[in-house]
Amino acid sequence: MKKATPVIAIHGGAGTINAATTSAAQAQAYHDALRNVVLAAQALLIKGASALDATCLAVEMLEDCPLFNAGHGSVFTHGETHELDAAVMDGATLAAGAIAGVCHIRRPVRAARAVLEDGAHVLLAGPGAEAFAREHGLEMVEPSYFSTEARRQQLYRVRGTGRVVTDHEGAAMTPPLDEDKKLGTVGAVALDMHGHLAAATSTGGMTNKRVGRIGDSPLIGAGTYADDRTAAVSCTGSGEMFIRVAAAYDVCARMAYGGATLEAATHAVVQQSLPAIGGTGGLIAVDRHGNLSLAFNSEGMYRAHARGDESPVTAIFA
Ligand code: ASP
Repeated sequence: MKKATPVIAIHGGAGTINAATTSAAQAQAYHDALRNVVLAAQALLIKGASALDATCLAVEMLEDCPLFNAGHGSVFTHGETHELDAAVMDGATLAAGAIAGVCHIRRPVRAARAVLEDGAHVLLAGPGAEAFAREHGLEMVEPSYFSTEARRQQLYRVRGTGRVVTDHEGAAMTPPLDEDKKLGTVGAVALDMHGHLAAATSTGGMTNKRVGRIGDSPLIGAGTYADDRTAAVSCTGSGEMFIRVAAAYDVCARMAYGGATLEAATHAVVQQSLPAIGGTGGLIAVDRHGNLSLAFNSEGMYRAHARGDESPVTAIFA
């Protein structure tokens, strides 16, 4: 069988990322972080690794990076706690694994992968998910591992407003929630040289979210989906609206049932279905032919991609 040219794309969250309040040095830090992650995933894909392995590696590197709202650097709930969500899906088999509302698993995407591999369930939440991770030998940490001072200050500013916001919305508020550290949910999608697709997403959720709230990221079909027959999709933005339009699955469904191109399908979801109910954010998607779409209806989305052995491309604003 002819080998496909591998493709990897990642995001570090979408939202009101304000060009005016982002210094050149801050932007450079994001570009560098995104580039390192894409380079590592790209190297794996070139060696013949699966899309599943490449997306999981990219997401765990992003979880470890405090610039982004996943793993270390996650946002706070209204109760000043952390509740992390993650999911991964294999487009070759439609196998999927996800975890929600955890605060002791260092790399949530690894736990999602373990759920996928275990195969008995798709989504585990809370203490049961943590017990599962412990049984599978995953690294456990105290919740304070996820905390950063910038995120705590962001919660204090938002809590008074009664709003629940994506990390990037902070930049639009006066004073900005988090002038010097605008963080984001993370995700990755890939096509490997064997023609298989995968998607993975990980997040701390939304600042000031109610304790127990679960967003779109760990819900298969909402924030994360992959099917070799169509596309792999990872979303970021106001999770409730992504759940209501089944955003990630809708991209694939438009392609499967309506014959839409990846570009048309992502445009319809991001520029029509989501805005119609007040949904802001974006998604990254790759289809089985290697076409890419990095679509958002917000001011910016941290994003990067690489095709074959070509040099990675990173971007923040529109
Ligand atoms: N979609 C995530 C959630 O609602 C937040 C984000 O992407 O920034 O939990």
